[in-house]
Amino acid sequence: MQNVESKVFIITGASSGIGEETAKVLAKNGAKVVLSARRESRLKDVAATIGKNATYLKSDVADADSMKEIVALAKSKFGKVDAVFANAGIMPGSRMSELKVGDWMGMIDINIKGVLNTISSVLPEFIAQKSGHIVVNSSIAGTKCVPGNAIYCGTKHFVRAMLDSFRTESVMEGTNIRTTLIYPGAIRTELLNTIAPSDTKTIVEEFYRNVALKPDAIANAVLYAVSQPQNVDVSDLVVRSINEQ
Ligand code: NDP
Repeated sequence: MQNVESKVFIITGASSGIGEETAKVLAKNGAKVVLSARRESRLKDVAATIGKNATYLKSDVADADSMKEIVALAKSKFGKVDAVFANAGIMPGSRMSELKVGDWMGMIDINIKGVLNTISSVLPEFIAQKSGHIVVNSSIAGTKCVPGNAIYCGTKHFVRAMLDSFRTESVMEGTNIRTTLIYPGAIRTELLNTIAPSDTKTIVEEFYRNVALKPDAIANAVLYAVSQPQNVDVSDLVVRSINEQ
């Protein structure tokens, strides 16, 4: 497929859910994929399913050095990096009055700093080669505010504001770097495992039972964005179930 065949994609959070499915869909369309996450055995399985066009490294987006190692792996194995999907994230929802400050900071480390570590590791390559595509997984929670998920909403609004500001800088600087923000609605993955048993978890689980889509809905959205002609920037994509308000 145009702009995907033989292109090298780094995908964070590729050990399950949306990241795993996106890696498989991109690889099916001729891409080479470099998989990042902390659960090595899961990465190994995903890479084995894809075959020779996949490689992986146990890595933590919260650790900047770890993300530099992923870029080094992409270059040594496949010779370059064309695009990145900054997808890794967690959603340990709770009300702020519960003061689960450790969870708040965890979301900031992974959903915000993790995305920034991912971008800062690939940006020197993209600037030098005057091309590249940064795809970031925000959420519908990055477009509105809901109870029980204040910090998560904050992190997803952050990546939205950051990447769209960066897009305008890239235009100014003429670097040809494309950006895409994906805003998924409810998707059936392991994400809800990060919520502790609580009223919040029960409400979210019920909601997901009724409306959640399979991860291929998002993988196909990523494929759409990255396969556009080089002069087309699909900046924002909201993808949700026909049953989700
Ligand atoms: P999953 O829990 O299935 O996947 C999350 C992925 O992130 C896993 O591969 C996990 O791997 C990885 N991850 C978590 N922490 C780290 C870390 N510190 N370093 C590296 N990788 C990490 O859920 P989803 O697929 O749903 O989530 C993917 C993204 O989609 C998230 O950013 C989420 O916010 C977003 N999203 C999801 C929605 C949904 O309804 N599912 C809706 C909107 C957005 P490991 O644990 O092996 O490190």
